[in-house]
Amino acid sequence: MGVFTKVKEWLLNNNTAGFTCDGCGREVFEYPSQRLCEHCQKTVFKNEKRQCEKCGRALRAEGLCLGCKKEPPAFERAVSPFIYHGDAARMINRFKQGERYLAAFFAEEMAKKLSELSFLEPPILVAVPITERKKKTRRFNQAEDLAKRIAALTGYEYAADVLVKIGDGDQKKRTAQERRERIRGSIRVRKRKLCDNRVVIVVDDIMTTGATGGECARILKNAGARAVYFVTACSLPQREE
Ligand SMILES: [Zn+2]
Ligand SMILES: [Zn+2]
Repeated sequence: MGVFTKVKEWLLNNNTAGFTCDGCGREVFEYPSQRLCEHCQKTVFKNEKRQCEKCGRALRAEGLCLGCKKEPPAFERAVSPFIYHGDAARMINRFKQGERYLAAFFAEEMAKKLSELSFLEPPILVAVPITERKKKTRRFNQAEDLAKRIAALTGYEYAADVLVKIGDGDQKKRTAQERRERIRGSIRVRKRKLCDNRVVIVVDDIMTTGATGGECARILKNAGARAVYFVTACSLPQREE
């Protein structure tokens, strides 16, 4: 990596590039209390209308989405502040590509969304893992960044390296059924004692079918977790069937 790339990355991650909108880069004056400019606040797709009672994705009708009706995921509830569309989708992709300072924006909204839920006891936060190979090329796990920020905002404990990814499994362009089959067995619980009898919140960037969150919940419950919640920055709305 060249010196220029390193400097640029440092500037982005330390957010010393000035008070600019996280969405479009336009100058803003209330940063960091307002991370988006007025325009972006209006155009970003917030997930605040009708949502599936189980997985939290945007819905047209009341109740459960088709996926949750057909095969309810093992988590208690999933929530996500944004719909994976437009500006929010572009921002989460920029974050994954290395603009790590964007974790602050997403984590704040995720923490707000979590505050709408009531937990039996203080939960612990764990991150959805990525493979070692992916970590080598990307150099960070976006879910870990989010989980650590949420921990700092909520006061909940962040438990590192609880889940580990063993299988590879490219999940793109697969059906819900294929994703579930492929994900099964590809994640393991490494620190079982930490989860015993605990309320666990699993953190990730995007929920597509919910298969990853469901699988994490299944294995965490097998490891003794009392209840499992799933929070992502964005989620896909229910498709028209
Ligand atoms: Zn903007
Ligand atoms: Zn659902």
